[in-house]
Amino acid sequence: MDLDDNPAAPLSDSGNCLKLVLRRPNRSFLTETPVTRPHLSEIAASAWLETCLRKGKTDVQLADLEFKVCCRKASEGFIIELEVERPGAAKVRVPLHCSPLAELARQTADRMVADGLLLAGEVYTYAYEIGEPIIGGFESDSDSLCIDRPFRFRVPMTQLHFVRIPLSQLLSAAKAVGTINGEFPVFFSAGALVKTERFARRGDTLEKPVECGAALIGSLMSCPDSGELGVIITDALEVEAEKQTVASLSYSGHTFTAIQNILRARRKARPELGEQWTGQAHSHPFPPGTCVECEKRPTCSLTSAFLSTDDELWHRSVFARQPWAVCQIYGLNARNESVNELYSSQGGVLRPRGYFALPESESVENLIATTNLATT
Ligand SMILES: [Zn+2]
Repeated sequence: MDLDDNPAAPLSDSGNCLKLVLRRPNRSFLTETPVTRPHLSEIAASAWLETCLRKGKTDVQLADLEFKVCCRKASEGFIIELEVERPGAAKVRVPLHCSPLAELARQTADRMVADGLLLAGEVYTYAYEIGEPIIGGFESDSDSLCIDRPFRFRVPMTQLHFVRIPLSQLLSAAKAVGTINGEFPVFFSAGALVKTERFARRGDTLEKPVECGAALIGSLMSCPDSGELGVIITDALEVEAEKQTVASLSYSGHTFTAIQNILRARRKARPELGEQWTGQAHSHPFPPGTCVECEKRPTCSLTSAFLSTDDELWHRSVFARQPWAVCQIYGLNARNESVNELYSSQGGVLRPRGYFALPESESVENLIATTNLATT
C-alpha cells in the first residue's frame, strides 16, 4: 500500500477532489484551494487523542493509525468524514469539520487581496467541497466513497510517558474552574497556578506593559479504570522571551534549549513523574477593544484573554500533533479586572475550556509518585 509518499499532494489522484472553497456571503464563488494531507494533521492528531489515548490505548502512536477521507451522501449535500483505522480495533469515523482550516482560508484570501481580487477585510465564507469525479461516483443515495488512498502521518515522535492514576482519586481532591464539557481533564496544582500567573503577568505592571510567559510542566496521566487521559500541570518555568511587546512574545532559540535542558535534568532526577512540556501561558496586558469610553462597560463580557492568530500559529507549530497541550491566557475584562482562559485543541481547533485546581504541587507530585501503578 502506498502511504504518505507525497504528503503535500492534493488528497485525490482524480483531480483535487477535496477542496476548500471560498465564497462571498451571497454564495458567489471567490476561489478554491486543494486540501492536502498536512492540512489535516491536527484533525488527525485530535482523532488519535479521542479514539485511542482517551480510551486507554496509550501505546498506540499517531503513526500506527491509517486515515481515509470519506464522503457520504446526506439528505442535503454531502458529509465529509475522516475514517480512522486503529491496530486491532474497529474502524471509526469522525466528522471532518472545516474550522481547523481557517488559516488555509485566511492565506488563500490574503493572496486574493494581494492580487486585487478581494478587498482587505471583506467577508467570505469557506467550506469543503468535492469535485465532479467524486460526485459522479455515487450510484445510490446511501453510498459512501473514499476520496483518497489511505494515508498515515509518518512523523517520528518520542514514546509518550503516561503515569497511571485513578481519575477518581484526582477528582476527589480537585475544584473545577470554569466549565468542563466533555474535554479531557486538565489539572493544575495550586503552586503551578500561582507561578504561572506570576510569570505570565510579570510585565503587566511595567510602565510600558509587555507580554510575558511561562512554560507549563506536567505529566500525562491515563486512568486505569476508565482509560481517560488527563494532563497534570505541576510546575511553571519563567520564559525569557527574545522579543516582547504589548501584543507579542517570541521565544528565542536559547529559550527552547533551556526548557529542554531543564526537562532532561528533571526527568533524570525523578523519572517516575514522566514530566513533559505540556503547554504555555502568557499575558495580554491590554483591555479588550476600546472600552474606556463605552457605556456598556459595567456589564460588557469582552475580555483580552483570547487567542490571537499569532498565538494559534505559535501553538500549532510548537505543539504540533500534541492535542493534549494547553495554552493559558491572562487578560483583562472591560472593567480592567484580571481574567484568564485556558485553551486546548478540540477537533484541531483551540477552544476555551475549564480545568481542575489541585492542592499544593509537592503533594501532587507525591501522589503521582506513590499512586503511579505502572509507567509506559
Ligand atoms: Zn497572545
